[in-house]
Amino acid sequence: MTNARYDADVVVVGGGPAGATAATDLARAGRHVVLLDRAGRIKPCGGAIPPRAIADFAIPDHLLVGKATQARMVAPSGRHVDMPVGDGFVGMVDREQFDEWLRARAALAGAERRTGTFSAIERDAVGCAVVVYRESRGGAERRLRARSVIGADGARSGVARAALGGRGITKSVFAYHEIIASPAAGFDRARCDVIYQGRMSPDFYAWIFPHGDTASIGVGSAHKGFSLRDAVARVRSEAGLADCATIRCEGAPIPLKPLRRWDDGRDTLVVGDAAGVVAPASGEGIYYAMACGREGASAVDAFLATGRVRELARARRRFLSAHGRVFWILGIMQHFWYRTDKRRERFVAMCEDPDVQHLTWQAYMHKRLVRARPMAHLRIFWKDMRHLIGSAA
Ligand SMILES: Cc1cc2nc3c(=O)[nH]c(=O)nc-3n(C[C@H](O)[C@H](O)[C@H](O)COP(=O)(O)OP(=O)(O)OC[C@H]3O[C@@H](n4cnc5c(N)ncnc54)[C@H](O)[C@@H]3O)c2cc1C
Repeated sequence: MTNARYDADVVVVGGGPAGATAATDLARAGRHVVLLDRAGRIKPCGGAIPPRAIADFAIPDHLLVGKATQARMVAPSGRHVDMPVGDGFVGMVDREQFDEWLRARAALAGAERRTGTFSAIERDAVGCAVVVYRESRGGAERRLRARSVIGADGARSGVARAALGGRGITKSVFAYHEIIASPAAGFDRARCDVIYQGRMSPDFYAWIFPHGDTASIGVGSAHKGFSLRDAVARVRSEAGLADCATIRCEGAPIPLKPLRRWDDGRDTLVVGDAAGVVAPASGEGIYYAMACGREGASAVDAFLATGRVRELARARRRFLSAHGRVFWILGIMQHFWYRTDKRRERFVAMCEDPDVQHLTWQAYMHKRLVRARPMAHLRIFWKDMRHLIGSAA
């Protein structure tokens, strides 16, 4: 039961994967949650999620608009390596339906949904957080007094800026994609193409992800001045997709690094893209946003139960203890392999190795580094080193 001084135990700002997961968990724990989300924008996203996300967050099969069973890695020379998933598939979701379903699940668990755009966190006379938002453009301004605030409002988080100031801003890659109608024939709806070519992206990659009747064709780059639209036009043209109907064109930043601090030492915590938790090299953020939202909910619940502010800091600690090593390895990979076409060519060549394929899929699908095959790790390490110093055939 919320104390009469407050409108809610927790106001969660942002109803994407991170915010909706945090709101669901906290509502299930019996907290009075308000889930605030601005309406009317579909999150630009390739929509690929691993089986671990489907299992951990009970994602129903009807939300999967596609199931990819193979990835095609394309080198600068045009040579490609196919990597069959083996057992299982990569789930493809449409963010318009997926996010709304997650928000509806939060409401079903007891969260109160509000539609509006967050603008500020004010403090009342006794220092309590007051979340200020506007119902619609030019609409009424509303205020919610909360014991705690979760900022899950994405990569350009207003909550992070309000609560953490300059520490709430992280470097990002900008990603742009076009949603097209999938061709009826000659298009593999079970294959994700990942294109490592400097002319498609000088520092990240381009992709073709099937979504059933539609597909996402996109590219990411942090280079100012590099035209992402032109790059997508090249990808479409070379893949024979230039004439497919274009349904939407949209872009958004992808954060590159977790923030050094996620809470303000008082009552506010950021999660998901707002906390900078996207995997380097792959740009995978949906699973990590949900895992982070879950850790955030658990930390806020402990804070509400005990009043101990230090409980908030455990969200970052626990998240990084589970995923920090993978982020670190992927960060090094991006740093070395995405620099020049010569390195990209070697990187794709390395993907031919069955050990590399096995470990890559295990790490992606199940979010764990396989420890059972130490000799495979050792072999990959030596191959990696030989490729890095350029002595591999
Ligand atoms: C082009 C592109 C392709 C991608 N492809 C993939 C992929 O294939 N697989 C993958 O795992 N990840 C992918 N990502 C990353 C992934 O989309 C994000 O990491 C993930 O959506 C983060 O979830 P989130 O809940 O933290 O933030 P978001 O999904 O950004 O959700 C933020 C929510 O906050 C709301 N909001 C924002 N500002 C306000 C405000 N002021 N007031 C109220 N509400 C607000 C928004 O409406 C939104 O609902 C991609 C990203 C991009 C840009």
